[in-house]
Amino acid sequence: MSLSPNAPHDIAAALDSVSQALAKAARAAHRAPSSVTLIAISKTHGREAIEAALAAGQRNFGENRVQEAQHKFPQLKAAHPDFVLHLVGPLQTNKVREAVELFDVIHTLDRRKLAEKLAEEIPQQARPLSCFVQVNTGREPQKAGVDPAEAESFVALCRDTLKLPVVGLMCIPPVSDEPSPHFAFLRELAGRCGLSQLSMGMSSDAEIAVRLGATHVRVGTAIFGARKSVSALES
Ligand SMILES: *Cc1c(COP(=O)(O)O)cnc(C)c1O
Repeated sequence: MSLSPNAPHDIAAALDSVSQALAKAARAAHRAPSSVTLIAISKTHGREAIEAALAAGQRNFGENRVQEAQHKFPQLKAAHPDFVLHLVGPLQTNKVREAVELFDVIHTLDRRKLAEKLAEEIPQQARPLSCFVQVNTGREPQKAGVDPAEAESFVALCRDTLKLPVVGLMCIPPVSDEPSPHFAFLRELAGRCGLSQLSMGMSSDAEIAVRLGATHVRVGTAIFGARKSVSALES
């Protein structure tokens, strides 16, 4: 995206240029700009950054760690009823209760044990959550996500057997790959699964993702600037 030159502190301006770039990409693909949800990925950034984005009208935020989000969001969520919090990082089964309490959307449903835990916890808390199944489109051994060959049966298990609120698929293409084939593949796979939502695209490739059908893009650096170190955040 042509937005990284923005000063990191000018969050309102950065949000505005990201939104405009995404709207342009949506129109080029004959889609309504409103069909794309921009998730501001605020991991490692502090409260001032999040409040600046809120003041600029941003309501969808994403974090990759449950514990970090627990420190940052409960009061902000209470103060803004239309706040939507997304979990975009791996979820351990021992954090499922906390995750279901705090998040509205989980993008990283990727294994049976996690699906079973979520299926226990969501009805207990009666929270209106939704889930994306993460697919490891690049079949990278170190990366989370179900294998593409198992995605359809995993979606069936989650949605039909466990009655989880699965709304779409999510992927993070390998950094060294051209992202387009991964995005196109994810869209095709979602179609086969009968799912309409696609969580794909980050700062470097969100416009490409929108042209290829993304309904949710996850943008951090282009909005908030370079990430702070986690140790600085926790001190
Ligand atoms: C950090 C993160 C992003 C945002 O990355 P940027 O390149 O900073 O936009 C998107 N998705 C996931 C899963 C992430 O962990």
